[in-house]
Amino acid sequence: MTKNLSSDASGGAEEIARRVRAVRERMIEQSLRCGRDPAQTALMAVTKTVPAERVNAALAAGISLLGENRVQECCEKYQNYACNSDAIHFIGHLQTNKIRDIIDKIGMVESVGSLHLARALQRELEKKGQSLPVLVQVNIGREPSKSGFLPEEAREALGEIEREAPLLQVRGLMAVPPKTDSDLWFGRMQELFEELRAGRAQFATLSMGMSGDFERAIRFGSTQVRIGSAIFGQRA
Ligand SMILES: *Cc1c(COP(=O)(O)O)cnc(C)c1O
Repeated sequence: MTKNLSSDASGGAEEIARRVRAVRERMIEQSLRCGRDPAQTALMAVTKTVPAERVNAALAAGISLLGENRVQECCEKYQNYACNSDAIHFIGHLQTNKIRDIIDKIGMVESVGSLHLARALQRELEKKGQSLPVLVQVNIGREPSKSGFLPEEAREALGEIEREAPLLQVRGLMAVPPKTDSDLWFGRMQELFEELRAGRAQFATLSMGMSGDFERAIRFGSTQVRIGSAIFGQRA
């Protein structure tokens, strides 16, 4: 039986490269439509459930940023990735007892959504004599199923992180806005980002937008989209 690889949902290396190009083209078109410089929005490939070999196909196609959701999965795969650890960002829920396992394997934690986690990261970084770039995660749609600070808590939380966890270099915000047809949550996230950005030179990343909504995210100022299925195919 012959198999048409180009229509295979999982896709081989060529199919992954084709999808990376397609996503980039859509990002560029949307940026220009919104009057934004396409270079302002980075493309991250989100690797959950994807074997290292297919992740490397995305890297070969020009991806320079990977998003990891699970500590154990990252620990199993990262050594086989054709990139260095600075290119790997942790974007999932991080339990404090897993910090030690992951901290040397990544260049950023995008999902700092509690002071408890910020303080635990600070303690581990103190032991190592290192600092770590992070994003503060905001639960913009106030969804019980999602992690992150509530929008009205974000300003105070950011101040506390800056005071109590100075080894965390806060570079911006991350969010997973609710899946709705409404622009509301993306607009609120952009407002919050601009508000907190004032007076903070290093605070320049708004990580927002996934396969289903990255064009909307670009319209609302996203500087980094996190794309899984549009690059690697639907997850099982
Ligand atoms: C899985 C995941 C993504 C990517 O989702 P897709 O819809 O497959 O693009 C982005 N961000 C986070 C936090 C994720 O867990």
